[in-house]
Amino acid sequence: MLSALFTRSAAPAADFSRLGQARVELRGVVKQYGDQRVLNGVSLTVEPGEVVTILGPSGSGKSTLIRLINRLESLSGGEIFIDDRPVGQLQGASLRQLRSRIGFVFQQFNLYAHLTARQNITLALEHVHGRQKAQAHQRAQALLEQVGLADKAEALPSQLSGGQQQRVAIARALASSPQIILFDEPTSALDPETIGEVLQVMKSLAHSGITMIVVTHEMHFAREIADRVVFIDGGDILETGRPEDFFTRPQHPRTQRFLQKVL
Ligand code: ADP
Ligand code: MG
Repeated sequence: MLSALFTRSAAPAADFSRLGQARVELRGVVKQYGDQRVLNGVSLTVEPGEVVTILGPSGSGKSTLIRLINRLESLSGGEIFIDDRPVGQLQGASLRQLRSRIGFVFQQFNLYAHLTARQNITLALEHVHGRQKAQAHQRAQALLEQVGLADKAEALPSQLSGGQQQRVAIARALASSPQIILFDEPTSALDPETIGEVLQVMKSLAHSGITMIVVTHEMHFAREIADRVVFIDGGDILETGRPEDFFTRPQHPRTQRFLQKVL
């Protein structure tokens, strides 16, 4: 039973069956900000439907790595492939198309404060994806139901708890039926009592078949949902492995030190 695996939860009954999946490959990815090199040639393949969690100390390049995948940042070197298609140079309509295949969930939710939960979801559906108003409305309502917020459609972000806002943000990220979803520390800004409800939704998503990459400091969650854990430090992937191996027998001394501090 899903709910039995969570100790903290106001378990929304999320059902994310039939989501798509795509393959993500980073090949020798380099990112520089001016003179500072923050990714040193990172290679990583995430298979369709795989759930990968990215761990590492603050400033190690985790956000940069996932922001490159949907091109919130531009590449300085190397290439990123989505289903074997290079995406590093995409612009205009093809970049928008790429982004509609990739959902992104931010640490600070990034909801529009003046729009209701439902409007936060319908905005892109209507104005980017050209859906009819009624159709977008229906889709938003279904998504809110999936994240357990059917009754909050008309609420403004300020009327929602952090956990509820983040669930709206997840619903919004799923609106375009992406095949990949990226999470950047989705629970780091939350009060402890609302973390469980967000993790619960993410856990349902992990079982939906979507390709999922999650930057997180929630070690128990990483251990439980990940097919694979990636440890990054100083702009390099130092270790990657199945969670049971990674957490019980970390190989790299830096991984060992990191785990000693956080576990
Ligand atoms: P993490 O998410 O692991 O904490 P980041 O990817 O955010 O790390 O940052 C990696 C490094 O890149 C840090 O040293 C950070 O200061 C630097 N950095 C991140 N974004 C920018 C930016 N827009 N401009 C300049 N430096 C940046
Ligand atoms: Mg970060």
